[in-house]
Amino acid sequence: MKPAIWLDGSLCDPDSAMVSVFDHGLTVGDGVFETVKATEGQPFALTRHLRRLARSAAGLGLPEPDLDEVRRGCEEVLKAHPVAFGRLRITYTGGISPLGSDRGTAGPTVVVALVEAARRPDATAVVTVPWARNERGALTGLKTTSYGENVVALARAREHDATEALFGNTVGALCEGTGSNVFVVLDGQLHTPPLSSGCLAGITRALVLEWVGAKETDLPLDTLYRAEEVFVTSTTRDVQAVHRVDGHTLPGAPGPVTAEALRIFVERAAADIDP
Ligand code: PLP
Repeated sequence: MKPAIWLDGSLCDPDSAMVSVFDHGLTVGDGVFETVKATEGQPFALTRHLRRLARSAAGLGLPEPDLDEVRRGCEEVLKAHPVAFGRLRITYTGGISPLGSDRGTAGPTVVVALVEAARRPDATAVVTVPWARNERGALTGLKTTSYGENVVALARAREHDATEALFGNTVGALCEGTGSNVFVVLDGQLHTPPLSSGCLAGITRALVLEWVGAKETDLPLDTLYRAEEVFVTSTTRDVQAVHRVDGHTLPGAPGPVTAEALRIFVERAAADIDP
């Protein structure tokens, strides 16, 4: 299926949808985005995603997005292509700015794209990377389109037959993945790094904290090698067990705590599509 595209207020043909080569999102990464899961034509947790889009935009100093309009864009692409399983990608940028790194005055660009997605396997391998997430940066906690660091880290993961790369922060504490949050089980207790570690306030992370419960704990990166279980969470992965971290295997993944977290997550998510 071709993606369904909504651009600046209306549905358009994906082959002719155009964004300026001077769009500030393209030229300097001056943009924010959301990825929203869509099942049987319905978005999951859309309200939380729209709120985070607005928070990220505010953090970047972008004009406040019209969330009703963005919601309408999501509904229109889903109505045009009610895919069984897909992803909505909402991108909101600083718009056209021909003059360089200052933002222009033309107003933001808003794109909603719907693509079909494959379901993720139950368990995956991850690697740690030697580069640090900055827990005190200007963009910390914002979901901006400046994802180059994640692209590089994910390429490292692929080189090692893994699907995710996990970062420590500048003080060596476990932080997050390129597109996921991380949970570990220690002495039977579930832990996840706090937001002060520099991780994104993941929506799946928040739902696991609310529905399953976990302690927010600063943990050294090498905790991953002594954890009884590790899992990653994201919109596209839900709760996904980790069976290998670097060269270290976690036999039997998903272990009991992960399996229970996944069971609760799936049950609660099925009961409420906009929790
Ligand atoms: N951390 C980063 C850097 C991300 O990009 C994402 C999602 O894309 C997540 C964590 C997980 O967030 P969510 O559960 O809202 O998808």
